[in-house]
Amino acid sequence: MAFANEDFLRLQSGYLFPEVARRISAWQQKHRDENVMRLSIGNTTEALTPCITAAMYRKLEALSDRNTYTGYGDEQGDTPLREALRNHYQREYGVNLPLSAFFVSDGAKSDAANIQSIFSRSSIPAIQDPAYPVYVDSNVAGGHTGCWNAETEEYSGIVYMRSDAENGFIPLPPEEHADLVYLCFPNNPTGAVATREQLRAFVDYAHREKAIIIFDSAYSDYIETEGIPHSIYEIEGAEDCAIEIGSFSKNAGFTGVRLGWTIVPEALKAENAQEGTIHRLWNRRQCTFFNGASNIAQAGGIAALSPEGRKECMSLVGYYKENARIIREGITASGLECYGGIDSPYIWTACPGGLSSWDFFDLLLEKAHVAVTPGSGFGKAGEGFVRISSYGHRENIMRAVTAIRENI
Ligand code: PLP
Repeated sequence: MAFANEDFLRLQSGYLFPEVARRISAWQQKHRDENVMRLSIGNTTEALTPCITAAMYRKLEALSDRNTYTGYGDEQGDTPLREALRNHYQREYGVNLPLSAFFVSDGAKSDAANIQSIFSRSSIPAIQDPAYPVYVDSNVAGGHTGCWNAETEEYSGIVYMRSDAENGFIPLPPEEHADLVYLCFPNNPTGAVATREQLRAFVDYAHREKAIIIFDSAYSDYIETEGIPHSIYEIEGAEDCAIEIGSFSKNAGFTGVRLGWTIVPEALKAENAQEGTIHRLWNRRQCTFFNGASNIAQAGGIAALSPEGRKECMSLVGYYKENARIIREGITASGLECYGGIDSPYIWTACPGGLSSWDFFDLLLEKAHVAVTPGSGFGKAGEGFVRISSYGHRENIMRAVTAIRENI
């Protein structure tokens, strides 16, 4: 008899966004003549840029000719893209990493979910609260945690690093021991960014506790504040204790195209294995379970990292950041308290009058016809907040902000 995976069975009910979609759809059923303005999911809306589409067309043409056709590529990714990534880190962040550290992926989400699988089941994860839900859920499904405790609303076996207004949404390294420390900056959902000193404290913690940091830099191109690191490897000593996960989704608009990367340096150390083992295991994992990212997407990624591509992508990022500014100012003008939205596409908004996240979600939907994301869906510490996303056409963003100002 087959048994369902007990670790998966411990996952709590539905993923956040299906529930948001369910409530929007239920509301839409009742209000067929009204349109919901969606500032909820972090899904890009603007067209791919010219130099990226031109490169993908060229690749498509090459694939249409048997003389230039190629099939499966390397599981680690096409060498020109890996070289472009390595050069990008060197040029823009002053970070020198060997080519072998770069693994191309079909996006950051799958790597963020899968990375736990190369670590012992006994590894204790430390995760920011609130956080992108994938870190908690993948650790539960991967058997690294205990059961859900309905009273504390936490899984046992996870060290939660509370991020709240008091600590500026940047937790200190935990007092307890942890083995895998998940960090995401600029943060989804709070929009907070960590300074060099704050990241240094985590690198010091990792060295002290012999832990490994898993640094999600999916939004790094949104950083505008001077001196804020874009990569964990800008912190000295991170190469032997940190993995970094990156994405082309939010800067090049590849949410549907699908392309990302993960950096796993050979210098990473593990308690029970010699240097190089973590790198070797990730390589083994990718070669076994992954057949490489789409070659058309990779051609687009190379173009995105070219000087012209970088200019175009930063202009795309600028569009969403201008949306974020409009939202932030509109929200503030309507008397709501909000955070983030400067180095990030997300505006973390406090619910007024002691409303819960879902109550404020319902109120915004009912009164302003605006859908946001309830903060509590990102973790217990997200209760009392909603996340407003700046991904949308400018005209819709402006309409939504006006609706909030006039109705809330
Ligand atoms: N990491 C964070 C923090 C995200 O917010 C998201 C998507 O919203 C991802 C990763 C997923 O990126 P990708 O589209 O590359 O899978």
